[in-house]
Amino acid sequence: MKVNEIFYSLQGEGHYTGTPAIFIRFAMCNLRCSFCDTDFNSFTEMSEEEIVEKAKSYPANHVVITGGEPTLQITASLIDKLHKAGKYVQIETNGTNKLPEGCMIDWVTCSPKYKAVKLDHIDELKVVFEGNGQDMSQYATLQASEYRLQPCDTQDAEKNKEILKQTIDFILNNPIWKLSLQTHKILNVR
Ligand code: SF4
Repeated sequence: MKVNEIFYSLQGEGHYTGTPAIFIRFAMCNLRCSFCDTDFNSFTEMSEEEIVEKAKSYPANHVVITGGEPTLQITASLIDKLHKAGKYVQIETNGTNKLPEGCMIDWVTCSPKYKAVKLDHIDELKVVFEGNGQDMSQYATLQASEYRLQPCDTQDAEKNKEILKQTIDFILNNPIWKLSLQTHKILNVR
């Protein structure tokens, strides 16, 4: 498997914000979002056993499988092995692929990116909000337990301030949504 990195930190975004978590970041993505700030090209080849051994070396139980786009590589057997090691498995996916057959993920966070969502089940829908004018109608038919809106980080402080204000206004007017912040950036941790 092509793994970009495995590291231990706090989950910075969404429902599990603040939770100590082992991040398994898979390389490769099927999209090219303009605001992407993730290196998904570099990787180390690792077996499922090596990934699980590395995950076991950290004290937390919460594992976040992320990318890139992790559905391009994950397998039911990797998730099985993580469960056998006592881990709780969250995935962060752009939703453009179904999860592999038999993949028993504990928490599915879908962050859709302008493409049709093919997932059968979503726990948390986390949408990056680029400001007024963004077409939000496409999310109305997606069923999830939680709907989170996250202001886009444009790397421009003034623009970010405006987007944050528009995000809050949107949530106040559409209260099915809750705010998600990239707290790891605010706190300057990984
Ligand atoms: S789906 Fe995620 S990882 Fe892939 S290009 Fe878009 S923001 Fe980057």
